[in-house]
Amino acid sequence: MKINENYKNLNESYLFSTISRRVKDFKAAHPNADVISLGIGDVTLPVCPHVIDAMVTATYDLGAIETFHGYGDEQGYTFLRTAIAKYYAKKHVQIDQSEIFIGDGAKSDLGNILDIFSTDNIVLIPNPVYPVYVDTNLMAGRKIIFANGSIENNFLPMPDPAVHADIIYLCSPNNPTGAVYTHAQLKTWVNYAIANNAVILFDSAYEAFIHDKTLPTSIYQIPNAKKCAIEFCSLSKTAGFTGVRCGYTIVPNELGHLNKMWLRRQTTKFNGVSYIVQRGATAVFNNFSPCKKNIARYMENAKLISATLTKLGIWHTGGKNAPYIWLKCPNGMTSWQFFDYLLEKHNIVGTPGIGFGLDGYFRFTAFATRKNTIRALKRLES
Ligand code: PLP
Repeated sequence: MKINENYKNLNESYLFSTISRRVKDFKAAHPNADVISLGIGDVTLPVCPHVIDAMVTATYDLGAIETFHGYGDEQGYTFLRTAIAKYYAKKHVQIDQSEIFIGDGAKSDLGNILDIFSTDNIVLIPNPVYPVYVDTNLMAGRKIIFANGSIENNFLPMPDPAVHADIIYLCSPNNPTGAVYTHAQLKTWVNYAIANNAVILFDSAYEAFIHDKTLPTSIYQIPNAKKCAIEFCSLSKTAGFTGVRCGYTIVPNELGHLNKMWLRRQTTKFNGVSYIVQRGATAVFNNFSPCKKNIARYMENAKLISATLTKLGIWHTGGKNAPYIWLKCPNGMTSWQFFDYLLEKHNIVGTPGIGFGLDGYFRFTAFATRKNTIRALKRLES
């Protein structure tokens, strides 16, 4: 056998695995240290009670002959896809059932979608960004070019008309910077994609955190986006589903063969999300306000983090329409130097910006508990 040589181009381990390992080593060496994590973007608030109720009921459904469910519908149950279509209708976006595919989270779909694209496509990825886009394309050996975010462009890079790309990733709200593209900016990206006969892979995993009503929460709010964009979303952060696992991908019928190819790919390699989880996800969309309350609670954490960083005179952005705060490491430190400094001196864990592609920066998440957020901020202030 021959191995996939492209794996040699990857970092030794996935960013968050490296962080976990370093924290574990630190804890082993300092068993009494009270380490607080504002690092890995995992949620801490429990799943809302009405969602739990729906999943409990669904569990009992499986135990009775009249309500038993085996393999589910190919693209996900109609009840969930109907609820998602209604959610989009509220955003003034019309999505047909046939365009919605239920999956076990955005990460899998973002990686798996690449099955339907040739490996000789040129991939354009914003930098810094969620590392999965780069790694999954490196695994396949695709050529990657970057659109660089910076303080000057508010970490919202725009396309260069002189540069051609076939596959374009956009992440809005962005992980890690928290930056959100405006309607006008997304329109420029849509026009660029159409001009290049390219596809946009739009990751809207944090759309529910957008507070500013003037900002788009779906690429399909932009005219003509259905001709060039696939949207990926997840209930992980929206509804505390990081451990439950459910997401969805929208492949518009206007993309013609891509919709049918994704259906073909999924029906061959994926057998759906559990009935129980899909019932839980449906409860999320049918009664969104309890989830919104949790989101609001996280966003209050973001405000507290931002206020402390302002007090300390540390440059930062994000945290207004996303659960992430992106900051410049003080005193010219590199990302990993600041990581070590925070861990060793203050027992706080954050995420080094270099892990997202940009050194000298750092990410805090608003997903810790209120108590731990406040404790961590007190340590920083002192
Ligand atoms: N997209 C972005 C931008 C993310 O930050 C994450 C998770 O952190 C995901 C997708 C994956 O989410 P999941 O696989 O839990 O749905």
